[in-house]
Amino acid sequence: MKKGIAASKGYAIGKVLIKEEIEVKVEEKVIENVQEEVTRFNKALEASKEQLFKIKEKAEKELGADKAAVFESHAMLLEDPEFAGAVQMGIESNKVNAEKALEDVLEMYSNIFASMEDEYMRERGADIKDVGKRILANLVGKASGVSEYEDNTVVVAHDLTPSDTAQLDKSKVIAFLTNIGGRTSHSAIMARTLEIPAVVGLQDITSAVKDGDSIIVDGIEGIAIINPDEETIKTYEEKKVAYEAEKEELKKLISVKTVTKAGKRVEVAGNIGKPEDVHQVLANGGDGIGLFRTEFLYMDRDDAPTEEEQYEAYKYVLEKMEGRPVVIRTLDIGGDKTLPYLPLPEEMNPFLGYRAIRLCLDRKELFKIQLRALLRASVYGNLKVMFPMISGLEEFLQAKEVVEECKAELKAEGIEVSENIEWGIMVEIPAAAVYADELAKHVDFFSIGTNDLIQYTLAADRMSEKVSYLYNPMHPAVLRLIKMTIEGAHKEGKWCGMCGEMAGDEKAIATLVEYGLDEFSMSASSILNAKKLIMQN
Ligand code: PEP
Ligand code: MG
Repeated sequence: MKKGIAASKGYAIGKVLIKEEIEVKVEEKVIENVQEEVTRFNKALEASKEQLFKIKEKAEKELGADKAAVFESHAMLLEDPEFAGAVQMGIESNKVNAEKALEDVLEMYSNIFASMEDEYMRERGADIKDVGKRILANLVGKASGVSEYEDNTVVVAHDLTPSDTAQLDKSKVIAFLTNIGGRTSHSAIMARTLEIPAVVGLQDITSAVKDGDSIIVDGIEGIAIINPDEETIKTYEEKKVAYEAEKEELKKLISVKTVTKAGKRVEVAGNIGKPEDVHQVLANGGDGIGLFRTEFLYMDRDDAPTEEEQYEAYKYVLEKMEGRPVVIRTLDIGGDKTLPYLPLPEEMNPFLGYRAIRLCLDRKELFKIQLRALLRASVYGNLKVMFPMISGLEEFLQAKEVVEECKAELKAEGIEVSENIEWGIMVEIPAAAVYADELAKHVDFFSIGTNDLIQYTLAADRMSEKVSYLYNPMHPAVLRLIKMTIEGAHKEGKWCGMCGEMAGDEKAIATLVEYGLDEFSMSASSILNAKKLIMQN
């Protein structure tokens, strides 16, 4: 038995197919005919584009447009004249073969991305490697397009790139296992979208199995059992049947309104990072969007999104949600989230530093672009806006002043703004929780951000493995703050939601129902299970 990281839920019993990496060994060669070498590179680039186009088409059909979007960044690199130009220059000035020039440029790009602090940006480095491998394979005539698989295949690989994962034929491939990767790696995210079980980070699974071995994949415990005996197979067959039945059963809740045992109607909403994520929230029966982390619109690019771009993104979400509540959080940058084009001062404690609303109130020009976009989009649905990292009343009032300034500007420009926008705050700093009864007099709603609230309350960094034993959502002090926040809101007739991970935590739901939480917001795949648990309490 091998233990790894459970990346996608479910059970599978099948046959191993080891996916070999197409390893191209690059040898440096001095070349005579520079032009010939440049042409060879350009041909490989064109072939890569064509293959990628086909893979993207397949991914769109099987995974949906949002997940296929990862190939946009691959295509972007292939079409980036600077990238192609750098390789060409390498060939011309160093008189080396295309493989070597390409390898040098890839290394330079990868190093830049690998040194970035932000996990999301580091993952872009993996995309570059993926594309680079494809061009290299094309240069030596080894690249593959879309692979064929046999029934009941469990793909075992050192790592799976996004394009590998997208090529998995869901009717044949029933699970996958990899040596490396974590829960947030692209292949893990795609496995959850494909809804096939997966275990990643198994370290040496590729050398522990051979093609044709029978294997059990347990995507719940994060284990793989190689060549299991009859009895184990039987146990897992039963587990699989029970799991599938449970999943089917949960689907019945898609259009059910969530009501607690005491008869209180609560909303179960989804957290999103990109506009296209709304589709998964809807498919899982989400009542609305409880948190749109807008900073993702600002990431993975060279400059801040314009007012127009943001307006389109917010309008898209509001329209797709057809009048259901949509809570959009204003820019929460700083802490662990940085932007390449927005240099922030070096700080000893970035989580306690210049971030979120503090930064927005200081950089009003940046804040106003977002607020104008939100106000303009407000006429397309049921918009609620919240400010992150509010520590006291003054910050909320200042933010509202900037909102009023933007409203006046838009009015002068003859642009319509909805009268029904609600304005709320994230309660993620203990001070805001303690002061909730006063703050509730001024805001329309609260959304408790437990991810940060827990780290600040217990002084236990949410990023640190070493103190993760202290990071406990059920700590009595954390629970008290949550209770105070909900009661504070209710005393003033306001509603209170929660958009931190705790809202979908099986161990916490009963307590949150007891405290009277009005809205639970979480990742789309947790919604149906949360609905079930809320209704049992
Ligand atoms: C939180 O802090 O709980 C939260 C939802 O925000 P983020 O995880 O983006 O900091
Ligand atoms: Mg937070």
